[in-house]
Amino acid sequence: TALLDGKYAVITGAASKRGLGLATARLFAQHGATVAILDLDEAAAREAAAELGESHVGLACDVTDQDSVKAAFDALIARWGRIDILVNNAGITQPLKIMDIGPKNYEDVLDVNLRGTLYCSQAVIPHMRGMKSGKIVNMSSVSAQRGGGIFGGPHYSAAKAGVLGLTKAMARELAPDNVRVNAICPGFIATDITAGKLTDEMRATINAGIPMGRPGTADEVAGCALFLASDISSYVTGSEVDVNGGSLIH
Ligand code: NAD
Repeated sequence: TALLDGKYAVITGAASKRGLGLATARLFAQHGATVAILDLDEAAAREAAAELGESHVGLACDVTDQDSVKAAFDALIARWGRIDILVNNAGITQPLKIMDIGPKNYEDVLDVNLRGTLYCSQAVIPHMRGMKSGKIVNMSSVSAQRGGGIFGGPHYSAAKAGVLGLTKAMARELAPDNVRVNAICPGFIATDITAGKLTDEMRATINAGIPMGRPGTADEVAGCALFLASDISSYVTGSEVDVNGGSLIH
């Protein structure tokens, strides 16, 4: 089954080898999409795209920098003539307590997760509006909904809650143009975002709080992204979809 035949998809932060973005890129490519992987490091982005096959593209893009975002999306529009799907996946986290959050911590975490989602969305919206069709999928987190408690600090919870607000407001504003916007709230997924930073004790505590008793896999998040990026979710917009093994049931 090819749910994304002939579609052009951009995924930010998708060069990370065990990450949610690359798993999503692989699944989209398997479903017929042509994919652009955007990430900070151009060589890593190209390498990741090459793994998907020769039609796919890897580009350098710092989602916090409007000029960098514009350059990457302009290049893709010039090449493809259209963008059907945007996955705002680039994100960073920091395990800080409230009183340890300094100005730079705040800026770094808010900028990549929230400002980056705004800038990349603004880069595709005029095109999607012009086509009267488009899908935007934003990576939020269970941390936004339950106030952290896994790894990220309060500034990460705030940034990801901001992503939920932005998702819902964009969904409302863009619905008349047939552009759907949804968020995914992953629970604990084993990727490099926490690799080497969790103690055995932290891991045991996290697993004890998950009814399914295990971390999720990147592919399990990718499956949800495929649903939201394809037409089988055609009446879903403004939603936050949980992929968390039951760690937050609400
Ligand atoms: P990851 O660290 O493996 O990958 C994140 C990628 O984002 C990296 O390739 C990194 O280079 C890129 N990136 C960082 N700053 C960037 C910038 N300014 N511009 C462009 N790219 C940038 O992380 P992951 O676990 O795959 O996480 C993907 C997304 O899912 C993030 O938004 C994260 O907050 C979210 N998330 C992850 C989990 C989890 O448990 N892994 C849970 C909930 C939400």
